[in-house]
Amino acid sequence: MNINEIIKLDKENYMGVFGARTPVCFTHGEGMFLYDTDGKKYTDMFAGIAVNCLGHGHPALVKAISEQAAKVIHCCNFYYNEPQAKLAEKLNKLASGTNGSGVGNNSGGGNNSGGGTTQSGGYKIFFSNSGAEANEAAIKLARAFFNKKGKAHKNEFITLNRSFHGRTLTTITATAQPKYQKYFTPLTPGFKYVEPNDITALKAAVNENTCAVMLEIIQGESGVHPMDKEYLTAVRKLCDEAGILLIIDEVQTGIGRTGTMFAYQWAGIEPDIFTLAKALGGGVPIGATCAKNNVAESFSQGDHGTTFGGNPLACAAALIVLETIESEGLLKNAAEMGEYFSKALNEFAGKSHGKIKEIRAKGLMIGIDLKEPIAVSVKNKLLEAGFIAGSAGENTIRLLPPLIIGKEEIDAFIKALKEALL
Ligand code: PLP
Repeated sequence: MNINEIIKLDKENYMGVFGARTPVCFTHGEGMFLYDTDGKKYTDMFAGIAVNCLGHGHPALVKAISEQAAKVIHCCNFYYNEPQAKLAEKLNKLASGTNGSGVGNNSGGGNNSGGGTTQSGGYKIFFSNSGAEANEAAIKLARAFFNKKGKAHKNEFITLNRSFHGRTLTTITATAQPKYQKYFTPLTPGFKYVEPNDITALKAAVNENTCAVMLEIIQGESGVHPMDKEYLTAVRKLCDEAGILLIIDEVQTGIGRTGTMFAYQWAGIEPDIFTLAKALGGGVPIGATCAKNNVAESFSQGDHGTTFGGNPLACAAALIVLETIESEGLLKNAAEMGEYFSKALNEFAGKSHGKIKEIRAKGLMIGIDLKEPIAVSVKNKLLEAGFIAGSAGENTIRLLPPLIIGKEEIDAFIKALKEALL
């Protein structure tokens, strides 16, 4: 089919939630590159919103998926599943920092007063299919944690303004952005919002009914806004002292994007619960809710479940993604290329005739803040020039390239950005 035929078919049959999509349809990819229906080549600086961490068509991922598909794609969760058990073990090791890949330093205060669990060590995992589902499970688990201790009144969550946690009814409630909530009232009760990076506001919001604080280490969807390290340390300490849980949404920051397997590792804190999705399966849908052992045990038989979550195909994909990140040194690459990219962008910003306001970046999570509301037109010009980028709001260009990126693609992108900003 050509692009016009595909657009017509889509408009007639697909719900309009994505509005007028960019009129491009990709047919295949290799490494850092994607190709469209006309055979045009694009450098992928967005990785399907932080998903294709190994790039496109990575031979190890293709092989693992093909081999697993030929064995068994799905068997329900009433039966044991080898890739699932292995993946849970792998994530537990990575999160606990016991296999050399995680940072594993535990500077979270360690006062385990009924909620904060920084010393307990070891995580158990529940698999689902998306970030929203992983967060939904985290929210249910946190409520169960207190409910089963006879403290059902401790059911309130504090999340941060500008956050993004997903599109289910409860996760749009956790998402402190009215634009995602406005047509869907009544929302889930028990959520309140405070300003990011403001520990005084957070302290003031905590009370005897608080169950958990939920945050992203770097707010991605709203334009790449990092939390300060001091703030994160103070949040961990506050949660420990107040006996409440800290949930970290690593759906976008996780799986190497910021240069460590999970972003909380560079921040030097440990969550009680953290969530993953996006890059975990390298493009195969999978979500994960990871909870410290003493929190995870709050879910007992029948409390939660899923049909597809963690099926053999998705888990085989995620296992090879994690193994490949290790064997190809992609954490190091993400950190080094992230630094190279930021440095180059900052140098370029100085010469951009005042068009760039600021570069916000950690590893390969990059926001280019423009002084004028021209992000969409710049993004379109980049696409024209063969570079796939994202935008956040009207002013920010958002880059989330595959972790395999090299200097060549970065240099070529900066050249294209220069043209696009003329
Ligand atoms: N949490 C964060 C931080 C995200 O960035 C996203 C998606 O962009 C989600 C949750 C929701 O993930 P999904 O779209 O897989 O439900």
